[in-house]
Amino acid sequence: MATEGAPLRIPTYADVEAAADRIRGIAHRTPVLTSRLADERVGGSLFFKCENLQRVGAFKFRGACNAVAALSPEQRKAGVVAFSSGNHAQAMALAGTLEGVRAVIVMPQDAPAMKVAATRAYGGEVVFYDRYTEDREAIGRRLATEQGLTVIPPYDHEDVIAGQGTAAKELFEEVGPLDDLVVCLGGGGLLAGSALAADALSPGCRVVGVEPEAGNDGQRSFREGRIVSIPVPVSIADGALTPHLGQRTFPIIRRLVHDIVTVSDAALVEAMRYLAERLKIVAEPTGCLSSAAVFEDLVPARGRRVGIIVSGGNVDSRVMAKLLA
Ligand SMILES: *Cc1c(COP(=O)(O)O)cnc(C)c1O
Repeated sequence: MATEGAPLRIPTYADVEAAADRIRGIAHRTPVLTSRLADERVGGSLFFKCENLQRVGAFKFRGACNAVAALSPEQRKAGVVAFSSGNHAQAMALAGTLEGVRAVIVMPQDAPAMKVAATRAYGGEVVFYDRYTEDREAIGRRLATEQGLTVIPPYDHEDVIAGQGTAAKELFEEVGPLDDLVVCLGGGGLLAGSALAADALSPGCRVVGVEPEAGNDGQRSFREGRIVSIPVPVSIADGALTPHLGQRTFPIIRRLVHDIVTVSDAALVEAMRYLAERLKIVAEPTGCLSSAAVFEDLVPARGRRVGIIVSGGNVDSRVMAKLLA
């Protein structure tokens, strides 16, 4: 994919540390929950990092906030453009508003209504496209050229990856070394950032990515050693419907991630129910990927200390009620 001639800079853990400094006091330091019942169920110790309780309801605020904070004065003046199926949109809208930077958001027409409304409420300017026939990146680039905006993509950007890595950094700082860290992936920004943090703060920790069964491009890319593209997948995990990994996320994932597993939509619904009933938290389907992988024993937790990133909580209450009914 075209990268506008920009040199490809792959972030390191030093970038995650710099991001943590930039977003301190702006992004929440989210809680880590434990549950005796969940521990008994899997026979290990689980630590749930609750990014559903992050600002805008997802870890995406970390990357967005870091990317906006890292802009030059000229870039700030012109504004930013983002293309997103939801949470990155809200995150960029709020990060822009908080920093006084104009944020144009290119969103799919079929994005959940709640996410569109929230993006506007956070101060974002929404431009729609059809995700099955149009190329959102081309639209974003055209707007950028016409209006001098800086494109902040949802995952394939060094400041975004570094920002996302701050969630795992906080988790290790709070609970110490872990045997496994389980992280969902779409384009791999959260997974790549988390892997950088694990490598630096908990050497030997196995980092496992989790994708929806229907969208296993990441698993295939990981196994084949090249970025595999698939048609836009169909799954209830709407935050992970990316057709391919990023040019910056893939090299990090390849080097520092130990495995990528997939879970079914049915397993996501069961995990959503468990998180609601036992941990008393609302997680969106995509936010349930990592928990589902552990509950389904795809990441064996017996006798192990396992970190689980609950990536987001933005689910329409009617959708959630229907899924759990
Ligand atoms: C964006 C998103 C993901 C996937 O993140 P990537 O960085 O694209 O891998 C997972 N969960 C939620 C809630 C998201 O918003």
